Amino acid sequence: MKEEDLLHAETYRDRVSTVNKTGGRNWVYALKPKGKWFNYRKVLAYFYLAIFFIMPFIKVNGLPFLMINVPKGKFILFTKIFWPQDFFIFAVAMITFIVFIVLFTVVFGRLFCGWVCPQTVFLEFVFRPIEWLIEGTPSQQKKLNANKWTKEWILKKSLKHFIYFFISFVIAHTFLSYVLGIDEVIKVIKEPVTEHIGLLSGLIIFTYLFYGVFAFVREIVCTTICPYGRLQGVMFDKDTMQISYDYNRGEPRGKLHKNEERKEGDCINCMKCVQVCPTGIDIRNGLQMECVGCTACIDACDEVMETVHFEKGLIRYASENEITTGKKFVFNARIKAYTGLLLILFIFMMTLVATRKTIDTFIARVKGPLYQEVGEDKLSNLFDAKIINKTKYKVPITLKLEELEGSVKLVGDKEIVLKSETVNERTFFLEIPKKEIKKRSTSIKIGVYKDGEKIQTIKTKFLGPFI
Ligand code: SF4
Ligand code: SF4
Repeated sequence: MKEEDLLHAETYRDRVSTVNKTGGRNWVYALKPKGKWFNYRKVLAYFYLAIFFIMPFIKVNGLPFLMINVPKGKFILFTKIFWPQDFFIFAVAMITFIVFIVLFTVVFGRLFCGWVCPQTVFLEFVFRPIEWLIEGTPSQQKKLNANKWTKEWILKKSLKHFIYFFISFVIAHTFLSYVLGIDEVIKVIKEPVTEHIGLLSGLIIFTYLFYGVFAFVREIVCTTICPYGRLQGVMFDKDTMQISYDYNRGEPRGKLHKNEERKEGDCINCMKCVQVCPTGIDIRNGLQMECVGCTACIDACDEVMETVHFEKGLIRYASENEITTGKKFVFNARIKAYTGLLLILFIFMMTLVATRKTIDTFIARVKGPLYQEVGEDKLSNLFDAKIINKTKYKVPITLKLEELEGSVKLVGDKEIVLKSETVNERTFFLEIPKKEIKKRSTSIKIGVYKDGEKIQTIKTKFLGPFI
């Protein structure tokens, strides 16, 4: 190993790859990847982008597929409306999601980051390709940046940043449509600016945020800011699948010399794997927090191996154990435990979703008067009902006393027609013949009926005189 390589091998962990010795930024001029893995990722990324931009426009029965309206506390998942009252389902879903993320990371490392993280997908498949198109290859980009304020520099930079800003503007609107719904966003666009100052300010802030992230911050999000990235270290073990350099095969690295018997390993020290890396690291130094698992170095090295007629896979998906011992992936005790837990949580969550009520009723006695005499042979109690209609439709319902003789007398309108997506409040008297009341507090059941079918039974108490 050369002296400078030795020095680098000793010091590369002392600082972030994109920070230079004086604390300044080392701008990453990544080579455009090409190869099998990049093609797979490209297909997935464009499919993903299509879904992201098209989904807000898709509606089933007037409801979007996904809407997360935090300000109004209204959530729509797969066209089902969830309310703050369904928070329990959300809590279980979040726990399930976290366990899934942990399990997935233990087994597959940063697969999520490299393949489906929006940061990677937008940067590598939208913003960076635009840069390659306008400013050319990394060496052309470096040359351009070395001659600032020339006509070419001003023209290319203006064009690139104008496009970046426009795309960020579209992304901000698309995100907003996942919060408010596409109809509301179209309304905001069409109506006078003065009527939506708050929303427009939010849109401008988010546009600048996306623009700043994709135009300038870039890989720093993955290497320094993202908490998921920072947690990798505690989730990885020696069986975690990761992008690995097979040092047993590659070392000692050394240039390839024609017509000379090769004494070194298979790494010809061409640096292609480094030049293509979007976070600017050298994967040959081993697993690093900065590696987002993008596979670009696998493709680059495979191409080199093919050219020099060595076996591909010097850099590949493999666990540390596989590299050191040659042992294949093991389904260890930790993975089994996580999988079991995940399965239980998933079944529990699906049960909650399947049994979730779209009409939810809460009935309670009105505080104050205990009971009233109605004529000579009946007693009555006053009740308040809160009935949540989570559907988009008006729903007529009826309340009936179950198991005992008696009747529900509504105060006000004689019918209950629930307004859509609201909490409906009604007050009613429950009249029960005295002969049915045999003690001070009688447990009763009130049935909630929709189209003649019972959808809920509410248990409560009916108070009478001391007997
Ligand atoms: S691309 Fe492969 S051969 Fe070239 S330096 Fe990287 S690991 Fe070595
Ligand atoms: S080391 Fe390889 S997989 Fe990791 S970020 Fe760099 S190019 Fe992508």
